[in-house]
Amino acid sequence: MIRKLLRRVFRRNGNADNRLALIPAGRHGIRREEVSPAAIKVCEGLQREGFRAYVVGGAVRDLIAGIPPKDFDVATDATPEQVRAIFRRSRIIGRRFQIVHVMFGAETIEVSTFRAAHTDHTEKDAHGRVLRDNVWGSIEEDAGRRDFTVNALYYDPVAGTVLDYHCGVADLKQKTLRMIGEPRSRYREDPVRMLRAVRLSAKLGLSLDPAVAAPIREMAGLIENIPAARLFEEMLKLLLSGHAVECIKRLRDQGLHHGLLPLLDVILEQPLGEKFVLLALGNTDDRVRAGKSVSPGFLFATLLWHEVLANWEIRKQRRELPIPALYGAMDEVLEIQAEKLAITRRIVGDIKDIWALQPRFDKRAGKTPYRLLEQPRFRAGYDFLVLRAGSGEIPDELAAWWTEFQNAGPDRREAMLVPDAAPKKKRRRRGNAKSTPPADTTGNP
Ligand code: ATP
Ligand code: MG
Repeated sequence: MIRKLLRRVFRRNGNADNRLALIPAGRHGIRREEVSPAAIKVCEGLQREGFRAYVVGGAVRDLIAGIPPKDFDVATDATPEQVRAIFRRSRIIGRRFQIVHVMFGAETIEVSTFRAAHTDHTEKDAHGRVLRDNVWGSIEEDAGRRDFTVNALYYDPVAGTVLDYHCGVADLKQKTLRMIGEPRSRYREDPVRMLRAVRLSAKLGLSLDPAVAAPIREMAGLIENIPAARLFEEMLKLLLSGHAVECIKRLRDQGLHHGLLPLLDVILEQPLGEKFVLLALGNTDDRVRAGKSVSPGFLFATLLWHEVLANWEIRKQRRELPIPALYGAMDEVLEIQAEKLAITRRIVGDIKDIWALQPRFDKRAGKTPYRLLEQPRFRAGYDFLVLRAGSGEIPDELAAWWTEFQNAGPDRREAMLVPDAAPKKKRRRRGNAKSTPPADTTGNP
């Protein structure tokens, strides 16, 4: 009933799936003040020159759903060169999918030219994945190429109207994620859409239209053809969406977690690590939703930690020395991930810093704890330690000790030091080293 009514109300000008509905300001609920002034200026600038220009995609969807958008994209019938000529601070980027970045102060607006519908001539790989995409088309064609109906909405900030070609507003109001076109062929064109379906439905609290959900299980294998860098980007989006726990749950429900990404296997297939990872992702979600920064390095360090622990344990049993064994385990785990996920080098550095600090929290005697406090990455290492304690991997008491130690005054700190429980021989070595402090066993700077 309600579904029918909504579709009728928002599909005013006809019933065909790609018939335009022009939704006036009072009905879609977007207030101009909520729209980025930079995006408005880009649309106004283009319209002044006689082009069509709209805020498009995720931003319009989020505004109608009452969520503050992450960024604002603009779509236009001006070509990249024409856009470039209008805005002084702009540049054309991309090759396979050309767009223009227009800069206003600190903000960058992505401007893309309406894309034409795919034809038999569209450049695709052997699995049907679209490779090159720079043929310009009409707004109707552009709308038809977007993935889900809720993403094919165009907001005109000058007129205040929303152009809706695929009943996206009605779908949004009735909380359904519906594909434009035939889901199977849309997944074949771009398998990332399966992950987007999960992420967007989790973020917006939508349920998947049965036709969107049905083919995922059997088509999941296509994700293996996605280039590593794109997959990594998509995983980051998913994990930093503020709804990571819900996304992971839904990935599992859709059968998208198995055998696809080594990283997801890692997260979901190890009972020991699961509690730790869910705790970490829950923490990340809280931070993202509170508008706090989240470091990808910290996140990936948590996701892979139990892999490192398992690998480290094997090496110790092989009688490797503990610290070199940890370093060997770290490298091996990261290498396995790198095959599929292009984790950038800077992030790898952050991950290793956090892991390498962990054994140093065990040392609570002498000068070692003081030196650890001075480490530039102490805070991240400590936050990581707290998660380890929260998941039951290490005693709560150790994390509590560090919480108190870092906040205590000099006298209290002195009193807190825990006498070294190492065997006699070791203690004697330490005793000898009184004038020269013991070497930094982790090799960390
Ligand atoms: P968010 O920004 O919240 O991550 P989004 O939907 O805005 O979600 P973007 O990657 O910013 O995602 O894409 C912007 C728009 O481009 C989308 O709303 C959609 O219309 C279109 N789009 C993005 N990726 C695809 C895709 N794989 N297939 C078809 N259309 C897509
Ligand atoms: Mg977006």
